[in-house]
Amino acid sequence: ALLPPRGTAQWQAADAAHFLHPFTDFGALAAQGSRIITRAEQLYLWDSEGQRLFDAMSGLWCVNVGYGQQALIDAATRQLQQLPFYNAFFQTATPPAIELAELLAELTPPQFRHAFFTGSGSEGNDTVVRMVRRYWDLQGQPDRRILISRNNAYHGSTMAGASLGGMKSMHAQGGLPIPGIVHIDQPYLAAYRRQRPAAAGLDEEEFGLIAARWLEKKVLELGPHRVAAFIGEPVQGAGGVIVPPASYWPEIQRICDRYDILLVSDEVITGFGRTGHWFGCETQGFRPDLMTFAKGVTSGYIPLGGVMVGERVARTLIELGGEFEHGYTYSGHPVACAVAVANLQLIREQRLVERVHDDVGPYLAEQFATLAGHPLVGDVQTSGLMGALLLVREAAGQSPFRPDQPVGMVCRGHCFAQGLIMRAVGDRMIVAPPLIISRAQIDEMMALIRHCLDLTL
Ligand code: PLP
Repeated sequence: ALLPPRGTAQWQAADAAHFLHPFTDFGALAAQGSRIITRAEQLYLWDSEGQRLFDAMSGLWCVNVGYGQQALIDAATRQLQQLPFYNAFFQTATPPAIELAELLAELTPPQFRHAFFTGSGSEGNDTVVRMVRRYWDLQGQPDRRILISRNNAYHGSTMAGASLGGMKSMHAQGGLPIPGIVHIDQPYLAAYRRQRPAAAGLDEEEFGLIAARWLEKKVLELGPHRVAAFIGEPVQGAGGVIVPPASYWPEIQRICDRYDILLVSDEVITGFGRTGHWFGCETQGFRPDLMTFAKGVTSGYIPLGGVMVGERVARTLIELGGEFEHGYTYSGHPVACAVAVANLQLIREQRLVERVHDDVGPYLAEQFATLAGHPLVGDVQTSGLMGALLLVREAAGQSPFRPDQPVGMVCRGHCFAQGLIMRAVGDRMIVAPPLIISRAQIDEMMALIRHCLDLTL
């Protein structure tokens, strides 16, 4: 190390003095102090006090192959030595970027043969906004400008990404959304029932059709000739792992086909095996024209994102488009692409997608179902290795919660203290462990979750 090692208090002081963290109340964190994470193996983290944490969130939904995979470390090291950077602007390319584009064309559904690379998921969604508008200009339909997305969606933090997202608190900071982005409601039955007691008897699949038809209603209200695209996460992730009814996405597909609207799947979380297929659109049964990816493409070892461009859009851009005036310094970064290739090969060789589909995904579903009997749990949902528990406030109300302290945050606090990283979204507690998790490790995670739910009661 170039600098002498420091103790926790020294790290915390320097952190509070200089580091503005993402999505953080700066003042509150400075007062409380960060937990300093210093190393990791498999699905465990260690902090600067030597405490072990079970990482049930794969970092930020990205470390799908777990920590410490030598094949990824070697790929990065080799590429750093051979060619740490060269760009793909101005008629040049590097072997790792070409290899990754080729491999993605193989692994993604058949309509995809081309990849556009970015540095992150947010940049991928900004690319989507520009690309779909460019597509419609080239098609001679320049009035098709509007992108429809959903409340409580998360599509990133750039101006376009946050605008596509449906987080009202994000829109309130910085004057969002940008023009031409319209939201409809999310397919979340528990929330719908809360607003409409008359919907108590509504069946999941009936509700899936109702929720999808909010799109049709919005398209007709705006005029189909003005709508460029619909974008959604196959399973809403950051919004709280909202798993839609099986009827939802096929009906969305029908509506997009009917009004000739481009369908965009944001696979930043659901891509590369998370839901038990290579892509979430395959689990949910729809055929997107564009797909955003990031996170799991490198298992988070290094930043990389991008957009898979379906042939319908790609052919238009290639044959009619001329220069597409968009791109990033790190579009196709050779080290990031080399790590991605190694990561995807590892997922394929170790059959991790099949493992989620046939083994650990169903086992997580079975184990989560046993929590439905816990007095604090109102509902459970899973999709592959994503899981959510809806916490019931009434039960929590028996203990001295402050009204400004959402029950999820209280539960999350217990988890953090007990060595379990689980995330709270309002009254939902969520997990997305690495795809390498074993049944025994699911048991270990479940014991910790049960203990923390009991502490929250
Ligand atoms: N889209 C989805 C579905 C996400 O979950 C995220 C990040 O969590 C993003 C986009 C933004 O990706 P990034 O943080 O890499 O910009």
